[in-house]
Amino acid sequence: KDSLVVAHRLRTYYTIKPGLFAKPRYVKAVDDISLGIDRGITLAVIGESGSGKTTLGRTLIRLLEPISGEIYFDGVNITHMKEEELKKIGFRRRVSMVFQDPYSSLNPFHSIHFILEEPLMIQGVARDEREERIYKALEEVKLTPPEDFINKYPHMLSGGQRQRVAIARAIITNPDFIVADEPVSMLDASIRVEILTILKDIQQRHKMAFMYITHDISTAKYFSDYILIMYAGQFAEYGPFRDVIKNPLHPYAQSLIEAIPDPDPSNRLRERKVAPGEPPNLVNPPSGCRFHPRCPYAMDICKRQEPPVVEARPGVFVKCWLYVKR
Ligand code: SF4
Repeated sequence: KDSLVVAHRLRTYYTIKPGLFAKPRYVKAVDDISLGIDRGITLAVIGESGSGKTTLGRTLIRLLEPISGEIYFDGVNITHMKEEELKKIGFRRRVSMVFQDPYSSLNPFHSIHFILEEPLMIQGVARDEREERIYKALEEVKLTPPEDFINKYPHMLSGGQRQRVAIARAIITNPDFIVADEPVSMLDASIRVEILTILKDIQQRHKMAFMYITHDISTAKYFSDYILIMYAGQFAEYGPFRDVIKNPLHPYAQSLIEAIPDPDPSNRLRERKVAPGEPPNLVNPPSGCRFHPRCPYAMDICKRQEPPVVEARPGVFVKCWLYVKR
């Protein structure tokens, strides 16, 4: 409850426009998620595409409004605040996001200088201080010397350099909480580690709360303290990163973790795939446990009743009937 960012039983649904006389239908993208992220901590949010992880990140920084549940930021309930109120309490300065695609997230008509200066102008930061902070942000993301970059435009930069600019823009207002949504998935494998290292250094230097959204657990190991594994908009497993990776409990978490490629080629034959089958339709999700159609351990109760979240080991929470004492 005392964490910088707290979500309590959060639900974010998208409405599908109904036809004439039809009832509206909802995509249950985030359905009953609770979590807390402390300052200086990185939470990795892992799941297949369509698992609701991006919707969760966007809801926490109020780019989306949830239909129910609560979000607290530094102790203030921001769940349904209007944009003006969010600005008034400094929320927009204190949170930011790094998007997946460095090609579309930067305006091609704006110079790097303007891209970095704009958020500071919105905040009314004085000109001299703006210059100082632009140089410092470029140095932090290792685009040096900064004067070689500030007058360039995004198309003059490589994908990795663009993503560094996007990170510089995200940190320029000195935020307390950053959501990074698949920040390296569109980059060449050869530069992913570089970008992740930059993110890790910045997060640790500034003691930010950090949410790292990815479908690829192997990239999360660089800097994650905790892990939340989502399935079909819901909680599957949550706990300390190393603990969960070493000994996952939820059958979906087990299949995800077993699918991580083994760096030792002699073990490649032992690699297994993520649970067979497709992620479910979130308009009409499966009854009971949403994973039951793909779960090798599904029991009768799994089809009928939604499992509760239980603390299966100290600090490790799982939403699965296998761990419910009955
Ligand atoms: Fe599998 Fe049942 Fe656990 Fe769901 S609740 S993951 S179906 S064992």
